[in-house]
Order: sequence, then C-alpha cells, then structure tokens
Amino acid sequence: ATPMSIIAGVGRAAEFGVLVRDADALQRASTLDTLVFDKTGTLTEGKPQVVAVRTVDFAQAEALRLAASLEQGSSHPLARAILDKAGDAALAQVSAFRTLRGLGVSGEAENRTLLLGNATLLNEKGVDTAALDDEVKAQASQGATPVLLAVDGKAVALFAIRDPLRQDSVEALARLHQAGYRLVMLTGDNPVTANAIAREAGIDEVIAGVLPDGKADAIKTLQSQGRQVAMVGDGINDAPALAQAEVGIAMGGGSDVAIETAAITLMRHSLMGVADALAIAKATLRNMK
Ligand code: ADP
Ligand code: MG
Repeated sequence: ATPMSIIAGVGRAAEFGVLVRDADALQRASTLDTLVFDKTGTLTEGKPQVVAVRTVDFAQAEALRLAASLEQGSSHPLARAILDKAGDAALAQVSAFRTLRGLGVSGEAENRTLLLGNATLLNEKGVDTAALDDEVKAQASQGATPVLLAVDGKAVALFAIRDPLRQDSVEALARLHQAGYRLVMLTGDNPVTANAIAREAGIDEVIAGVLPDGKADAIKTLQSQGRQVAMVGDGINDAPALAQAEVGIAMGGGSDVAIETAAITLMRHSLMGVADALAIAKATLRNMK
C-alpha cells in the first residue's frame, strides 16, 4: 500500500465535501457490504410536522394544548412539531416531568396526569388504546408517526406526525443499491411507519422499535453475521452506534459528538456524500493493488 495514493484519496474526498479522518478510515470504507441509516434527520428532513389530530370524546384544541405543555420539557424533534401545531395556546405548567427515552414523555398539569408517546409506552403503562388503534395503523401505514396522548390513564388523542424524506435521499440510496450495498434502516419509530418510509426510500431491511441504548447492539448483531457495516447518522441518539460500526459516517449539521466519533463526516447534509465517499474509497484502494 502506498500512503501517497491514500493521501490523494483523502484529498479527493475533501473536494466532494467528505472529511475522512485518516488512511485507516478510507481503507475500512473500501470493504463495506452493509450500510445502516438512522431514520430521523438522516434519511428524513428531521423537521416533522403534525398532519392530523384525532380525539376520543375530547376537544382537539385542548388535547393539543396539554400535549404541547408536556413537550415544553423535551428537545425531541417530535416535541417541536407538537409545539408548532399548538401555536400560541396558553400552555399549562408541568410538574413531575419525565423523559422516557425512545418512548415519550410524562408529567402532571392542572391536576391531571399526562402521558404522551408511542403505543408501546401507553400499553406499558396500562392505558387501553383500542379506540385509536385503527387510526394508529392507518396513519403508520402511510409513513406518519402516531403519537398518543393519555389523560388520567385514558387515551384521548392521536397526533399523526410526518417527517418527509430528504429530497435527494431516494436518488442517493438507488446509487448505493446499484453499487451492491445492502441498505438497512435503524430507528426507534414503530415498525409499520418505518416500513412505509423504507419502501418509499428503497431500503432493503428495517430494524425498528429500537430503544436509544439498543442501537449499538443492533450494529453488533449485523457484525456477528459477518457483515462489514457502516452506520450513517446525525449523532442524536446514535453516537454509540456510529462508534460500534466499522465506519461511522456523520451527517454534517448533526451533533458534535457524531463528528468526534465518526471516521467520515459529510460537510453537505446529503446522502449523496455517502455514495461519493464510498466510491472514492473503493477506487483509491483498488488502484493500490
Ligand atoms: P428515532 O430512532 O427516530 O431517533 P427515538 O428513539 O428518538 O426515535 O424515539 C422513538 C419513538 O418514541 C418516537 O417515534 C415516538 O413515538 C416516541 N417518542 C420519543 N420521544 C418523544 C417525545 N418527546 N414526544 C412524543 N413521542 C416521543
Ligand atoms: Mg435520531
């Protein structure tokens, strides 16, 4: 191996807005067979919006106001969507606020107990979601994320939240597929929503319903099957998975942790950078043989 051509490869990648940490990273990037993508903020825009609100014997505006009151304490992208939708409603003060990572949020306001999150969370807490189940399925199968609100132990509302794919994700994934990589989506979102988005994106395999702490383990499982894995993410929830993969690829504009952990950082916030980076890595290493 001639170090000169590796340096040239790293330099060529930089021209494409791809920062490669070192020669070793480029080498590892040339032998991958499986690419794992975080969903939110990586495949998608990461700017979710509430597209529908359904309630059961409860006023919509009141459901939104209570949900938004809870989300004041959360930094999750879904929280932003609910707060935006609530607009300038007078929010309630929340006590005993808790974040249940990868599931939702809970707290108390105006003498009511509030729980907001996915169906797994509500069911875990013994809330019967039957009255909203059909609507949950319908929204999820169209690629929206259903977020449920329970007030005093009763499911009262469903917020369907949509986070569209990035404009060039489909094209970039088609290019990577063409190059022979197996494409995997890794997400904390529910399997129905995840599969709908995966179909639209052209993803081969979905690993859904994974709690934040389980993402690195999901990478380990793929590796134990003999796969050479890159993880692509923005570092929100996925820094340990970036570190576990043979090659961690951080989307530009993501968290600083991601950039510190990653072997490769994309300056442009586009998956085209992944296709460019891997093509350059392969071409560089091929020329050295
Ligand atoms: P991702 O893999 O997309 O980053 P997360 O692990 O952050 O997903 O969250 C998984 C799921 O947990 C979300 O799809 C949502 O249903 C629920 N959830 C997490 N945080 C919140 C929140 N602040 N408000 C409502 N729902 C939430
Ligand atoms: Mg994420």
